[in-house]
Order: sequence, then structure tokens, then C-alpha cells
Amino acid sequence: MPDTLKTSHDYDVYITATFAPEDEALKTTRAEMESGKLPKINVSASEGKLLHMIALMHGAKRILEIGTLGGYSGTWLARALPEGGKLVSLELDPHHAEVAQANLDRAGLTDKVEIRVGPASETLSKMIADGEPLFDLVFIDADKDGYVDYLGKAFGLTREGGLILGDNTLPDSIFSETETSGTKRYNEAVATHPHLISTLIPVLRSQGIDGLTISIKRGR
Ligand code: SAH
Ligand code: MG
Repeated sequence: MPDTLKTSHDYDVYITATFAPEDEALKTTRAEMESGKLPKINVSASEGKLLHMIALMHGAKRILEIGTLGGYSGTWLARALPEGGKLVSLELDPHHAEVAQANLDRAGLTDKVEIRVGPASETLSKMIADGEPLFDLVFIDADKDGYVDYLGKAFGLTREGGLILGDNTLPDSIFSETETSGTKRYNEAVATHPHLISTLIPVLRSQGIDGLTISIKRGR
């Protein structure tokens, strides 16, 4: 095949087949999301594997996810947790949370995952007020207009040296000087934050590329 005909999808097919084949639980999770009529906006298998690797490399014991959907990214993340580790995942839609809970139960992750239903901004405020133990890793993947607010709240819930990840951070608005968007504002916020060191990892999609912004918390 001539180089010009290769798409990001072609490269992703190779990476996925080689490094991120799905087992039965992940395949069933996607099938259950489809029959439950959930939108197909979960991370890809290759990005799921990337999240899994980052959590392992970081030795994360407590992970916070904002945006559960059907538990697909949650499965990749929770599988990186050691014995006694915990994933707290926040979700607005009770139907999504129900599908996710069944998927995570089927994957044998019941003891490691706790889904909290409600608007993430309110749940985060309550977690701060209630003195929630700090997290080693936060994955932000809910409504894009909420990202900067979630960042502000998640920062206080992240331990020194902890990681904050933001998904879908290469929106079309990055090419415009006049337009903005939730994830473009998020990138600007983490890039200029005095206590975050950040960069963006391009992620292959079936159509084009997207981004995963990664930040590490340094000092208060
Ligand atoms: N992380 C998932 C995908 C999440 S999709 C995966 O990759 O598998 C985004 C999710 O955020 C949807 O389920 C949507 O219902 C939820 N969401 C949207 N607005 C929200 C809000 N204000 N608070 C919490 N969750 C929200
Ligand atoms: Mg996403």
C-alpha cells in the first residue's frame, strides 16, 4: 500500500492488534453499551491500554475518573490497580451508571470501583467538603465545557506528584485564533498553571488524531 493511502486508523489497527487486544470482558462491555444505546464515545482500545500503562507506571492506588459512560475506560484503569486499590468514577446519567456497574461487575472489578451518580461539579465539591482521601491519578473525560472547573476541583483532590489527564484535547478550535472550546481552554489552563507540568500526547482515532493532555502536580 503506498504511504499516501495509510490513515491514522491503519496505524491504530496495528497498535491495537499487537498491544491492546480486547478480552471477553472488554468486548462484552462494548456490546452492552451498544445494546443499551449509549453513545460510542469511549476511549479506543489502544488509548485504554495507554491509560492502563500510565496508571501502572505511576503505581496509582487511588484513581478518580470523571465521565464513566459504560465503564470501558474504567475497566482499563481499574485493571491497573493493586489489591486494595480504588477507582472512583463520576457519572451524570443514571442509565450510563447502571450499564457501567453491570459491566464492571462482570469484569470482576466490583470491589475496586465505586460509581457516584450526579453532576460531577457537585460531586467534586462534596468530596472536597467531606475530606475525600487524595488521588494518585485523575482522568477527566466528561462534558468538555466542564473541564476547567473539574481541573480546579480535581487539583485539590490530587496528591503532590499525582497525575491529571484530560481526554479529547485536540479540538478543531486549536486551529482558530478567534474560536475557543472547553478542551482548548483546559489545555491553556494546565499549560500556564504554576503547579502543573504538562504536555499533550497525540492519540490515533479512526478518523484523524485526538489528544490526551497529561499533567503532573508539583508544589502548591
Ligand atoms: N470515560 C468513558 C467515556 C465518557 S463519555 C470511556 O472512555 O469509556 C462522557 C460521559 O460523561 C457520559 O457518560 C456523560 O453522561 C457524562 N457526563 C456528561 N456531563 C456530565 C456531568 N456534568 N457530570 C458527570 N458526568 C457527565
Ligand atoms: Mg474521551
